[in-house]
Amino acid sequence: MTEVQLQEFKLEPDSELRFEVESKNEKVVLEVKSGYAELFGTELVKGKPYEFHTGSKVAVFTWHGCTVELRGRTEVSYVAKETPMVVYLNVHAALEQQRVAAEQEGTRGPVTMVVGPGDVGKSTLTRLLLNYAVRMGRRPIFVDLDVGQGNISIPGTIGATLVERPASIEEGFSQQAPLVYHFGHNSPGENLELYNTIVTRLAEVVTERCENNKKASTSGVIINTCGWIKGAGYKVLTHAAQAFEVDVILVLDNERLFIELKRDMPKFVKVVYLPKSGGVVERSSAQRSEARDARIREYFYGKRTPYYPHSFDVKFSDLKIYKVGAPSLPDSCMPLGMRAEDALTRVVPAWPSPALAHRVLAVSFAAAADEDLLHTNLAGFVCVTAVDMERQTLTILSPQPRPLPNTILLLSELQYMDNH
Ligand code: ADP
Repeated sequence: MTEVQLQEFKLEPDSELRFEVESKNEKVVLEVKSGYAELFGTELVKGKPYEFHTGSKVAVFTWHGCTVELRGRTEVSYVAKETPMVVYLNVHAALEQQRVAAEQEGTRGPVTMVVGPGDVGKSTLTRLLLNYAVRMGRRPIFVDLDVGQGNISIPGTIGATLVERPASIEEGFSQQAPLVYHFGHNSPGENLELYNTIVTRLAEVVTERCENNKKASTSGVIINTCGWIKGAGYKVLTHAAQAFEVDVILVLDNERLFIELKRDMPKFVKVVYLPKSGGVVERSSAQRSEARDARIREYFYGKRTPYYPHSFDVKFSDLKIYKVGAPSLPDSCMPLGMRAEDALTRVVPAWPSPALAHRVLAVSFAAAADEDLLHTNLAGFVCVTAVDMERQTLTILSPQPRPLPNTILLLSELQYMDNH
């Protein structure tokens, strides 16, 4: 029997308890015993146990002081008095002022983009600002452009969702009907042309939705981005800023990026430099890849609330699988009037082969594999668990029972080994 460790922490006002759960199959239970505390902007309920599993890196912050108990084995646990939370709260207050002004003047609320290198707390700051906004009665739109992590859907996608309640401590923001677009890789650099195309499309749809939802419009948008900030990565960011017509860019922990954006952005865009929290934990590429895996597993099997996916065979002949991006040729070999980059957004059929094993397939809402396909959002995902070339069938893991909807499937480079 493993010994259950019990730790109690008394936190002074403006301090936070940081802990990590690393060991495999470990579970740590957190409980606030007295006072008030929050987790990345979501209030914790006193006396309620919250569970954290392997890979969790957590900070419990208190504005007024509290006592917290941890049960289970933590890799690290310590109390930090130095945090940038007051600075972050001031950012929230400034955004809130803009929302009030937007409400009075009948204009759009602030569109804010969070940028910075990897592991500086971009996703965490995005979550915090969304939580604070929704706790003030706002209904902001959360946009996630980070194809490497997939906070809204699975990695390899970008998406947007209306935030109507604070993120759940254990499960994050509610995943009801998010707007999701297919990319299929975990870095924008794998196909810049496609990435920019879907970012533009997502921005159009988000703007449209804001026009039809006054509350969301005055609440504004908060955009999380990838940690790729140099060279082409920088261009991707400025393209996203333009597409979403951002008003505010929050630059976390990178002076060079801050100076470049200040130089290159139009004057009406406020570029603000913010320190990162000392608590943000750097992740190795193995940990990132594990986190991606966990995200896909969560899609099929749920996190706290378990889901029960279906597994069934589908005939090759009943499938319409496509991939985006034909092999590119030099410009000199392209038909007149076509650029080599056009090939990158071309939709081409993908024939079933053993290489499909363990691949994730995105289920598109599109009815035909035409121009509109890239501009059409996704219904969900399935995963190929086995390929039988002899019987000409694929075994598929799907959140829905058979039959597979009669739609286009888009091949993703992402793989998932289903050993649940
Ligand atoms: P980025 O989006 O910049 O890559 P994240 O926001 O995902 O960074 O943060 C990286 C990791 O650090 C996450 O696992 C997050 O939970 C953790 N983290 C963020 N802030 C803190 C903090 N103050 N204390 C402890 N862990 C934190």
